[in-house]
Amino acid sequence: MAKTYSDLFADIKSSVKLISLEDLKARLESDNTPVLVDVREKDEFRGGYIPGAIHIPRGFLEMQAEQKLPDKNAEIVLYCAGGVRSAFAAKTLSELGYTNVSGANPGFVRWKDMRYPMEEPPHFTDAQLDRYSRHIMLSEVGEKGQAKLLNSRVLLLGAGGLGAPSALYLAAAGVGTLGLVDADVVDASNLQRQIIHATSRVGAPKVDSAETAIRDLNPDVKVVKFQERLVSDNVDRIFGQGWDVIVDGCDNFPTRYLVNDASLFHKIPVVHGSIFRFEGQVTTFAPFSPWDGPCYRCLYPEPPPPHLAPSCAEAGVLGILPGVIGVLQATEAIKLILGAGDPLVDRLLTYDSLRMTFRTLKLRKDKFCPVCGESPTITEYIDYEGFCAGGAAAE
Ligand SMILES: [Zn+2]
Repeated sequence: MAKTYSDLFADIKSSVKLISLEDLKARLESDNTPVLVDVREKDEFRGGYIPGAIHIPRGFLEMQAEQKLPDKNAEIVLYCAGGVRSAFAAKTLSELGYTNVSGANPGFVRWKDMRYPMEEPPHFTDAQLDRYSRHIMLSEVGEKGQAKLLNSRVLLLGAGGLGAPSALYLAAAGVGTLGLVDADVVDASNLQRQIIHATSRVGAPKVDSAETAIRDLNPDVKVVKFQERLVSDNVDRIFGQGWDVIVDGCDNFPTRYLVNDASLFHKIPVVHGSIFRFEGQVTTFAPFSPWDGPCYRCLYPEPPPPHLAPSCAEAGVLGILPGVIGVLQATEAIKLILGAGDPLVDRLLTYDSLRMTFRTLKLRKDKFCPVCGESPTITEYIDYEGFCAGGAAAE
């Protein structure tokens, strides 16, 4: 005779190891936490879940188990709303060769009633779920990562060659707030490389032109404009607005030292890029916890005397080159926000567009560095004005 549902459930329940919610809570607070799996449907999960849970709806369990639960000997606790689906799911995992599976008893409904810790997934509009779907599909980004990007703030120094592609990609990625520091207006000679600007906006302030392009690309992004040159008098006001990352595209010596010292005092990582003719380079300066990498002064403690400094006169540059370097900077910024991968802290990446080669050089922190070393001697801003009257180099 065929089994009824009650017979089947009674059989399953007697063969599955159960864990009470009190015990589960204690285990999740211990150092030895089990792998927690929520087997409810997507809509139920979106209404809230137990922190740390991996979501695998019951209907996808057989298909997704090996990818999402690679260790078959790990201790796994499953939960659903009331304890039925998790019991069936535990039985399925045992049949798939998982050796240490149990089901929470009863489930999330009671967990919520007991006011035990829970989390809600970030809320997105349908338009956002669609716009960022290719990010959300990546397990390294997902909804949590996308929410982080939308809540993040990136300050771009310069809306020129490097800032233009960086800003466009950061805006497209959904970085929620972009700060733009640039005193210049759009010149026709910029358009060979500064792709955020347009022929119709020649003569407009670069921060306004960039804002127009960013708004059109992604209305989720808020633009904060600073139509001014970064100097010691305004650097604290501009840097002190809660930025997560600075993308530095102002390639001139005085600003480079000011940005280095101010970002260290404000503890904001700087993704630095520079370009010259056919070559470019990128690195990330983050001389504080958790990265503790070198800073710019670890490499070049003081500017060279003016007569030995590289020419500050405008130089030619291959129009595509800042695109490559600016996009690498944007990639670094996104990684720093997501906490994904290995940033270019203590590495310099160089690119030679003619030979089409990338190289990575190791950079070292100097414990005698005048600003980030053990006994710093530079504790306030130094203006190297007049050092380079010619303004920005190939930016
Ligand atoms: Zn240093």
